[in-house]
Amino acid sequence: MTAPAAPTAPAAPDGTVERTVIENCAIATVDAHDTEYASGHVVVAGNRIESVGAGRAPGGLDGVVRRIDGTGHLVTPGLVNTHHHFYQWITRGLATDHNLFDWLVALYPTWARIDERMVGTAAQGSLAMMVRGGVTTATDHHYVFPRGSGDLSGAIVRAASAMGVRFTLARGSMDRSAKDGGLPPDFAVESLDGALAATEETIDRYHDASFDAMTQIAVAPCSPFSVSTELLRQGAELARRKGVRLHTHGSETVEEERFCKELFGMGPTDYFASTGWLGEDVWMAHSVHMNDSDIAAFARTRTGVAHCPSSNARLGAGIARVPDLLAAGVPVGLGVDGTASNESGELHTELRNALLINRLGPVHRERALTARQALRLGTYGGAQVLGRADQIGSLEPGKLADLVMWNLSTLAHSSIADPVTALVLGAAAPVTLSMADGRQIVEDGRLLFADEDAIAVSTREEARRLARIAART
Ligand code: ZN
Repeated sequence: MTAPAAPTAPAAPDGTVERTVIENCAIATVDAHDTEYASGHVVVAGNRIESVGAGRAPGGLDGVVRRIDGTGHLVTPGLVNTHHHFYQWITRGLATDHNLFDWLVALYPTWARIDERMVGTAAQGSLAMMVRGGVTTATDHHYVFPRGSGDLSGAIVRAASAMGVRFTLARGSMDRSAKDGGLPPDFAVESLDGALAATEETIDRYHDASFDAMTQIAVAPCSPFSVSTELLRQGAELARRKGVRLHTHGSETVEEERFCKELFGMGPTDYFASTGWLGEDVWMAHSVHMNDSDIAAFARTRTGVAHCPSSNARLGAGIARVPDLLAAGVPVGLGVDGTASNESGELHTELRNALLINRLGPVHRERALTARQALRLGTYGGAQVLGRADQIGSLEPGKLADLVMWNLSTLAHSSIADPVTALVLGAAAPVTLSMADGRQIVEDGRLLFADEDAIAVSTREEARRLARIAART
């Protein structure tokens, strides 16, 4: 399918800024004090939030082009997804009863056959599912680059840009295959030099360091068991030379811990420390198997965590110690993770799952997450781990206008006493309006810049094409 042109920023034809006023809605700002309004207003001017407060918007505003009655709605910051693998949209529903290592070994041969059209189409599917559910900042950790597969990074960036969502591409890589003691097959990996050069080229091509950037790049070797020590070391050096963030998988399973101890003589956190992979510019996916000293090291270095509760449950990886991470001051955001290990691909359900799964942890039952903490993980926490907490993640004057109006007036939510509880613990709430960078990208649950029905067809076709090619080889 051809996506419609990307939305443009609100124009200012006569030099004045255009304003959108949302009123009569409940508001959870997710600011430092968790300020909430039972009935309040948000004024958006250009791509920024101009004011947030109780009651109606201030009178006498110039340039108001739209006034929205938010009765029956909750307005929150847009959701921020901090870990995903978009390409997996076309390999969902496979190896459904495996643990991480067996699941990876089962899927690598299929993943090694992906091409540019498959990856671009899968990215549209992954993005569409998240954006229609309130995500305004997305992340894709893409680490499979088969030889001759085309411009995969370009296809992913174009898909995000067309949908109007803020986006970080974590340019992944793998160079430790089975012949070097790693998990991926030899044909699925890049060379050390090739991976570093391609990552640098992707940064030069797409990374935007500005306050209101819509596209950023991170350096993201895949995991300790698929990446050489040298790629981790030199990847960290590259990221710091370029001023971009670092992302990888860490401490996901007991098998990974065993692998690190056998190969490197230390656990994952110590191994990351020894390769330059702890720091306030690093965020790690999962961090499930963390002892007290691992958590202290993350807190000391301000290393962030992308918590992926559904994927951890699907693969039987374990329960991350989120309450302990938060108590220690570790920045924590939420991640869908790839949809081969979380077929739903929705972030708003992760708010609920984060809360429920952490309350089931036998050690942490009494200190488990509240509904408001869960909302914070999915918004401000995500902004923190992406290094963008000054710009997004809460509704405060001067920040970028990334927000969602959730409809809580229907059967699913209308009798739930508290709006934040309704959002987190209730059914997936319909999105009446979603805005990224001051531009509306969802209206009444439909994407404004992509055709959901066409994507449903094209993703099925690409999934079948990939399955056919993989079956032949
Ligand atoms: Zn992952």
